[in-house]
Amino acid sequence: MRRQPSPRVRLSHPALLLVLTLSTASCTGLSRSGTSAGSRASDPRTASEVAAAAELRRGGDPRRGLDHLERLLQRTQDRPARAAILLEMGHCQLAKGDRSGALESYLASSAFAPDPGGRAAAYEGIGDVHVADGAFGLAIDAYERALATGGLPGTGAVRAHYRVAVCHQRLGHLDEARDALVRSSGHRPPASDPFVWVEPFAPRSPARPPTPLPGGLVLVPRAAWGAAPLRPNHDPMGKVVRITVHHTATRPPAPGEASGRSAVRSIQKYHQSSAEQGGRGWADIGYHFLIDPEGRIYEGRPVTVQGAHAGGSANQGNIGIALIGDFSSSPPSFPQEQALFALVRDLVRRHDLSPRRIQGHSEVRLGAGEGGTQCPGPFVEGLVWRLQKGEGLSGAAASQRGTAGLP
Ligand SMILES: [Zn+2]
Repeated sequence: MRRQPSPRVRLSHPALLLVLTLSTASCTGLSRSGTSAGSRASDPRTASEVAAAAELRRGGDPRRGLDHLERLLQRTQDRPARAAILLEMGHCQLAKGDRSGALESYLASSAFAPDPGGRAAAYEGIGDVHVADGAFGLAIDAYERALATGGLPGTGAVRAHYRVAVCHQRLGHLDEARDALVRSSGHRPPASDPFVWVEPFAPRSPARPPTPLPGGLVLVPRAAWGAAPLRPNHDPMGKVVRITVHHTATRPPAPGEASGRSAVRSIQKYHQSSAEQGGRGWADIGYHFLIDPEGRIYEGRPVTVQGAHAGGSANQGNIGIALIGDFSSSPPSFPQEQALFALVRDLVRRHDLSPRRIQGHSEVRLGAGEGGTQCPGPFVEGLVWRLQKGEGLSGAAASQRGTAGLP
């Protein structure tokens, strides 16, 4: 693994040496399973031609599908049939990256659709276009319109709630995201769906011990980011008495869930690799939680296991949270900041910690009489200072709503 050339790498933070291999994958349009009901063309021949175009799209050739549909549209007058053709045209246009064309087709389809199912499918398409544009607020409006038609079947409705949740989460609206996730329970997006990264925290039941996962937040569990197993060379955590906040001092991952997962996997790989391999030789990724620039929280080392992030005995009873990125000279994003606040709020309540027990890495090191570190940098130290003052922590009402009735 290449080393970062900056002189900062000689300072103490374990992740400083890491150079992330950024995935070039980014979150662009949605993959369509093609199962959405939508408008049915009343004429069976039209219906089979629309289905053939959908098949071309799924086979990776939306352009040819679109050509067929455009010719079909020219010779079709029947309004329900036009709605079905325009809906599939929108899917093909979105698949080939023509978002304005797709938006126009979906809008026209919604106008022609004779039934709630057809209108719902068109509104969903409009939502998908807005997601592809990064216009998450508009996407929420469209998905909620789709839901309001009452035309979505059960599976379609939970999928729409799920997408509403993801959009809220990307906007940093964690309470709304949590509420929508509750309504989306049971939805399992296909692996190709760019929304697959969000999973609600598993509901806790009295039959199981409370999990360390913050109630009401969205989290990418270890299994979802492809964590390697924990190795035997670890100590149990014992009682949690403090929280330490870090930055990873790595380049921020590109937008999208694939990059975030890849970043976390890279950090774990570096932490687990042996010293001979240029790594740290630890049992697992050093931190218990990592937060990406879009506010996704990744489950790191299990909190039942002592971390490797603060140095020596300072790791005892210490939950390590790392903001992914380098915040030496620029602040974290708003969703990242909000996710940190929500996560800390939950952990403080869960472990009954005084806000003064939340510290930045450099403060922990100085307190232990060790040399300072540039981790987590002045901007994140500012956030930690706000947390120490109790900011955001007393607003536990929203959090309590999320965990009401749970053990
Ligand atoms: Zn650190």
